[in-house]
Order: sequence, then C-alpha cells, then structure tokens
Amino acid sequence: MRLPLPEIGAPWPDLKLRMRDYATGDVRWREGKTAVYVFNAGPEVEQVQKEAYALFMSENGLGPMAFPSLRRMESEVIDFGLSLLHAPEGAAGTITSGGTDSITMAVKAARDFARKARGVRGPLNIVLPRSAHPAFDKAAAMMEIEVRRTPLANLLADPQAMDATADAATVMIVGSAPCFPYGLIDPIAALSDLAIARDLWLHVDACVGGYLAPFVKMNGGDVAMFDFEAPGVRSISADLHKYGYCAKGASTVFFRSEALQAFMGFDLNDWPGGRMVTPTLAGTRPGGAISAAWAVMNFLGVQGYRAKQALVTRTRERIEAGVTALGFTVIGAPQLGIVAFSHPRVNALALWPGMRARGWFTGMTSEPAGLHLMLSPFHAEVVETYLTDLASALADAGGAAPAQPAARYS
Ligand SMILES: *Cc1c(COP(=O)(O)O)cnc(C)c1O
Repeated sequence: MRLPLPEIGAPWPDLKLRMRDYATGDVRWREGKTAVYVFNAGPEVEQVQKEAYALFMSENGLGPMAFPSLRRMESEVIDFGLSLLHAPEGAAGTITSGGTDSITMAVKAARDFARKARGVRGPLNIVLPRSAHPAFDKAAAMMEIEVRRTPLANLLADPQAMDATADAATVMIVGSAPCFPYGLIDPIAALSDLAIARDLWLHVDACVGGYLAPFVKMNGGDVAMFDFEAPGVRSISADLHKYGYCAKGASTVFFRSEALQAFMGFDLNDWPGGRMVTPTLAGTRPGGAISAAWAVMNFLGVQGYRAKQALVTRTRERIEAGVTALGFTVIGAPQLGIVAFSHPRVNALALWPGMRARGWFTGMTSEPAGLHLMLSPFHAEVVETYLTDLASALADAGGAAPAQPAARYS
C-alpha cells in the first residue's frame, strides 16, 4: 500500500526518534566494521563536516554573485587541489557533486573539445582500461559515445593495448590513480607519453586517490607520478567526499588550462528566465557541500591529512601482512587505501556472508574473486578484530590458515 503524506505534521523530537529507529538496520560504520561507502576520519572531523554544512545548508552555489562566500570557499578549495596535484599556472577546476559528476563533466569537455576545437565528425569513442570506473560508461551512454575497454597487463592499464585501440575518433583515454577494484595506480607516465605522441586527451581518475596519494608521497611512500606532473594529463577527477574526508556531495574536476575547462561550461540566454550559466551538470548546488569541504580541508591542513593518511597506509600494511599469514593472496601491490585479496583454495566471495554475520560490511572483486577493503583512518582500531573474524570465517569455510603463508602475486 502506498503511504500518503501525513495530514498533520509530527513534532521534530518524535521524528528524530523514528529516524533513529529506521537506522537500526544500517551498518554501524562508526564502530569501524564498514569498509565501503563511508570514510571515517573520526568524530572531530565529523563534527566539523556537520556544523560547517549546516552553516551554509540553505545557500546555493548556483548564485556566486549572491553568495560571494561560497564562491570564495570554492575557489580556495580548488586552489588547494590544484597545488596538491602539481597543476601548472593557468590550470582551473570546479567543485562538483561527486566523482560521477566530475567524470561526466570531464568527458563532456573532452567531447566538446574534439568537436569544436579539432572538428571531429561522426561517432566518437573513449578508451578505458578494464578496471576504470563505470561512471565513464554512464557518461558515455548519455553522450552516445562508444566505450572501448582494453585488457589489463599485470592488473594495470596497458598503454600498448590502448594505443592500438585509440583512433582519430577517440576523445579521451583514461588512467586511474588508483582503480577502484584493486587500488592500483595505472602507469600514468606511460599513458602521458602516449597522449602526447598521439595528441589524445588523457584523463586521470583520481576520485579515490586524489586527496590521498599526495600525502602518502609526502609521508615517504613510493608513489609514481600520477597527476599534472605528467605533461600529457589534461584533466583529473578527485573526490573530496572520499579521502578528502569532506561531507558527501563534493568532488573536484581539474583541467590543465582555463581554455580546456571552458569546454565544460553551459551558457544559455535564449529563454524567458534570463541568462543561465552553470559550470557543471547541476543547477542548484548545495552550499553545505562546499562549506563543509572548505572547513574540513582547513581543519586538517597538510599535517592533519598526513597523519590520517599515515594511519590508512599503516592499516593497509597490517591487513596485508595479516591476510597473507592466513593464506590469502594480496591482489597486486596496492600503495594507497584500497586492498583486495583472494584465496588460492577458497572462493573469497563465499566468506562474505560469514564476515557480514560478524558485523563486517566490505566490498568484493570478481576478477579474481576477492574481498575488498577501502580503509579509513578509523580502521586502525579494528585491524586485529578483522583478522580474527576473517580467520574464523575462513575456518568455517573449510580453509584453515596454512603453516607457510602463500606468496603474493602482482
Ligand atoms: C568512487 C569512484 C568514482 C565515482 O565517484 P562517486 O562519488 O561515487 O560518483 C569514480 N572513480 C573511482 C576510481 C572511484 O573510486
């Protein structure tokens, strides 16, 4: 039966209780047993997100002239991102509603660049490694662009395969930093060489790594070049609401130059409502997502991010050592916050229900069958519990831990 809107409104305290009740079935991510969908940087960051969001919750980023506050906060957040990602002088960027929005707008800009600046006619395509995020397929479907996915080499984008697949109608090639399934960074330097040699638009999808990799690098991590440092990179997507620890509804898309970014915009005067200019897909843009991003970034600063990201790295290393000791094989050699692992004898996916029963909600991979963790700083507190629970789920599935841990492959 369809629920009608209540005739008479209810008092807010009652509604609050009912919402809490609705949430009893949700994952209890604050306890640390969720490793997908949520990024838990602890209660202090959560408080900053909430209060900063509430301060500008009703304001609208669609109107930068009405809200110079939001315009200023957005431009400062963009400056932070551009400097973290080695953007050259003259580079530009915009806050979007999320990674899918950032990717869609980058594809749109690359498409319009191909049509308007290079005069490409007829059907268009984009070339993606098999591990690239489905947001590219979604964007391509909306714009009637063909998607050509190329096989991976050692789990990474294969520049040779992409070279062989790209043609005169290719509007974009993509590398991930890192890809979502395995948390591995594609060979961006080689893709950049390819992009320059063939005059192709290289987009780096750093949705999950854009605000993590720079700090892992500062902490001494051996992270290869992945951003505007590679001269062939024309655009980058980087999500604030992932490892930027900002409130949800916030990502960034960056372009090597304002001239390239100009292909993203929308500007229409031919209707009765006055001129409509928008940078992204959205009309109304929630002010709270912008103000919360600004506040969290300024709250953490470089030192704060370095400390949080060091916890993520350390946690990933402890998980890798622990699952390897249980006989699992870590998939590739992850360097950031995502780790996936398979088992040589037990189908890792068969362990998921047992882990769920023990309170864990995590991701999975299908090629090969693996368990997938997207780690937050808070997971440092629950590594031992995770490994103990995994050992017992493994034993339930008939796969006891070996005396000799299996070797990892890459
Ligand atoms: C999360 C993610 C996206 C999509 O971002 P949303 O904010 O979920 O729309 C794109 N690419 C990668 C690599 C991601 O991890």
